Amino acid sequence: MSSDQLPTFDPSEHPHRRWNPLTQSYVLCSPHRTKRPWQGAQESAAQNDLPRYDPKCYLCPGNARATGAKNDQYQTTFFFENDYAALLPLQVEPESSDHPLLRSQPARGKCYVLCFHPDHNLTLAQLSTPPYKPSTHILPIIQSWKELYNRIPDDNPFVKYIQIFENKGSAMGCSNPHPHGQIWSLDYVPEEPAKELKSQRQFALDQANTDPSVSLGVSDEKGRPCLLLTVAKLEMEAEGRPRVITFNQDFVAIVPYWAVWPYEVMILPRRRQINSLNSMTDPEASSLADIMGEVSCRLDNIFNCSFPYSMGIHQRPSPRESLPGEEDWEFAQFHIHYYPPLLRSSTVKKFLVGFEMMAEPQRDLTAEQAAERIRNSSTVHYLSS
Ligand SMILES: [Zn+2]
Ligand SMILES: [Zn+2]
Repeated sequence: MSSDQLPTFDPSEHPHRRWNPLTQSYVLCSPHRTKRPWQGAQESAAQNDLPRYDPKCYLCPGNARATGAKNDQYQTTFFFENDYAALLPLQVEPESSDHPLLRSQPARGKCYVLCFHPDHNLTLAQLSTPPYKPSTHILPIIQSWKELYNRIPDDNPFVKYIQIFENKGSAMGCSNPHPHGQIWSLDYVPEEPAKELKSQRQFALDQANTDPSVSLGVSDEKGRPCLLLTVAKLEMEAEGRPRVITFNQDFVAIVPYWAVWPYEVMILPRRRQINSLNSMTDPEASSLADIMGEVSCRLDNIFNCSFPYSMGIHQRPSPRESLPGEEDWEFAQFHIHYYPPLLRSSTVKKFLVGFEMMAEPQRDLTAEQAAERIRNSSTVHYLSS
C-alpha cells in the first residue's frame, strides 16, 4: 500500500507515542480504547466524617508525637523535623566496593513535615472555596515552603537539593488524613529533577531553538530559549486550548501533552522564568495560591471525592549559588506536577503494571480528554455547599 492510501494520522483516534521533552522519554497513547462516551461522575459525594480535631493525630495542634515532642497550638501552618525520616544528617565514610557493578554512595539529608492547616478534616482543595480563601489559607503554605527552602540549607550547609511534595490520600500511601506535606533535603540532586534540569539546559543552549518558530519568542531571564515557558505559550496559543485547565495572570495549569497519569496536571509560569520560590514576587505567589486551590478543587469534584495524588515542586535545587558542575541550576523553571492515580471513578485506580513496567508507560484517556473533564468540573468544592 502506498503512503497516499494510508489514513491520515488522527491523535484522538490512532495509537501513537508522545515525547516528554522534560524527562526525554515516551508514553504510548491508545485513544481508540476510550470510544465510549464520558458519563460524568455518577458517584454520590463522599462525606467527610473526620473530626476537626483528633486527639490521636500526631499532626493536630497541641498533640504529642511518638517521640514525645509536642506540636505548637498553631493557627496557620506548622513544621517540624520528621521523627521517622528517610534520611539522616550523619556523615559517613563511603563504602569501597569490590566490584564496579555493585556500587553505592552514602546519602545525607533531613526530612520535615509541614502541616497546612490546624483542622484535621480539611484538605488543600477545601481551602480554595468559602469560607476559606487561597489568599489567607493557601498562600501561607507557599510562604512556609519558601521559608524552609531557605532555612534548611542555611542550617545544613551540606544540603544540595530540597524536594517539596504532598502525598494526598491513602491510595498514595499517605498514612494520616491531616492536611500536610513533606520537605526532604538531600546532599545530592536526585534522578528526576536532575533529568529535567539537564533537558532544560540543553533546550536553552541549542541554537536551533532560538528560531522564533520554536521558541515562540519567549526566553529565560538571560534571553535564552526556555523549555517550559515555551510549553506554556504553546498551550495558551493552541486553537481551543485543548490541554489548558485554567490560567491566571502568572500561571497556567495544563494536562501535559505527554501526561502518563490519567489526570496528570502541571502548573507552569506563563509570563517569565521563575527560577525558584525565591525569585517569585508576592503577586506571583498569590496567583500560585489561586491556581493551586482551583486545580485541587476541580480534581476533587471530578469524582466527588478527596482526589488522591502526589504533588511536588521542581525548581532550582537550592537557593545557594551553583558551583562548577551545577551550571544547569540557572536553567530551572519553577513548576508543579500532580500525579493522581484515579481512572474512571473514586475506586478505579491506574497502576503502572505489565507493559508499563516492562516497556513504557501507556494511557487510554488522552491528555485533551482529561483536560476537558477537569475543565468541566466545578470550582466550588463539593463539600462546601
Ligand atoms: Zn490531625
Ligand atoms: Zn518537573
